[in-house]
Amino acid sequence: MALYVHKYGGTSVGDTDRIKNVADRIIQARQRGEDVVVVVSAMSGETNKLVAYAQAVQERPDPRELDVLLSTGEQVTIALLAMALRQKGCPAVSYTGWQVGILSDDVHTKARIADIDTARVRAELAEGNVVVVAGFQGVTEEGDITTLGRGGSDTTAVALAAALKADECLIYTDVDGVYTTDPRVEPRARKLERITFEEMLEMASLGSKVLQIRSVEFAGKYNVPLRVLSSFKEGYGTLISYEETGVEKALISGIAFNRDEAKLTIQGVPDRPGIASKILVPIASANIEVDMIVQNVAEDKTADFTFTVHRNDYCKALEILEKNCGELGARRIAGDDKIVKVSLVGVGMRSHAGIASKMFEALANEGINIRMISTSEIKISVVVDEKYLELAVRTLHDAFELERAA
Ligand code: ADP
Ligand code: ASP
Ligand code: MG
Repeated sequence: MALYVHKYGGTSVGDTDRIKNVADRIIQARQRGEDVVVVVSAMSGETNKLVAYAQAVQERPDPRELDVLLSTGEQVTIALLAMALRQKGCPAVSYTGWQVGILSDDVHTKARIADIDTARVRAELAEGNVVVVAGFQGVTEEGDITTLGRGGSDTTAVALAAALKADECLIYTDVDGVYTTDPRVEPRARKLERITFEEMLEMASLGSKVLQIRSVEFAGKYNVPLRVLSSFKEGYGTLISYEETGVEKALISGIAFNRDEAKLTIQGVPDRPGIASKILVPIASANIEVDMIVQNVAEDKTADFTFTVHRNDYCKALEILEKNCGELGARRIAGDDKIVKVSLVGVGMRSHAGIASKMFEALANEGINIRMISTSEIKISVVVDEKYLELAVRTLHDAFELERAA
């Protein structure tokens, strides 16, 4: 019998009527003769509410306790969905992550799944049950509850699909597929029929929150066919899979953006070996991830060194630089946390020149100043002022004619 893993996100289980709607979808799948394992998120807004509770009682919430708290959001929805299914006459049983053997490492609040023991799920399927599993949570070898990072239910679903060798993993959400860019920013964005793992991974890493990065990594690694589709309307959504040879590919598949960026500049440091590591080692030691890095050398043999970090880490990074300013021999430290990153993604870039110049020209025509640039084989990213985000995305969408199918 065909086996599908369904995942329903926060909006899709946002209230009890929506949970009943999800139950109907599952029952339809069963009527087609499919076995179904379902992963659900917490109701929309619930995880944020729990984070706020924690912050209200402890300045920097203890990660272990935070995970105990955050994992409760999903426990509510698994029980309600199992009840909704039973109410409609469909045998169903709910399980938390630990009950169903989702083993993770012990990095609280962003744990990685290490192993899944599928025995219990398989036994329930064999009994004819729909198995409803809590997303976003795991358990360490010591028996402590963990969570998998925001958006982590996607990863639970893909990991279960891989472990169970499911035919497909269906990610049901509030959009009907993966679009050329976030339709909330560019309403003319076009839904993609297919996208490669490689491009989706790039889109997710560069800020498209439609899928958690790790879920795409996992799907690529274990070759789990992954589909993003709407829980509210019918359709085939977008299939994420390995590239098919011989199929003509669009030059650019999409535009991703990230609002969570901030940049820091150390001005006038002596231009000599070792200075970059002197600047960045203390940043790395504070567990701050650095994204883009640019260094310009002036005629007076001093250098300006600029790098970007997550906005949450901005104040901490600034503090570290200011403390080290004297030792680095720097003239001044400057920072800006009102910047964003906009990226063009497409495997077609590999074989085409001139994408970057076209991108820069389109932005220049709108008077958008580019503050930083970085490129790789299948993406070009620019950092621009936050106020230009929407304009930059729409301008590029237009310039590369993404509303039209290739
Ligand atoms: P869920 O709660 O179901 O996990 P998310 O909010 O995590 O849903 O992801 C769906 C949202 O992702 C959409 O509402 C959309 O605004 C956003 N999004 C960002 N980039 C894209 C994109 N390229 N295509 C589709 N949706 C996107
Ligand atoms: N509830 C979690 C979150 O809001 C996990 C998820 O929805 O995927 O991040
Ligand atoms: Mg999500």
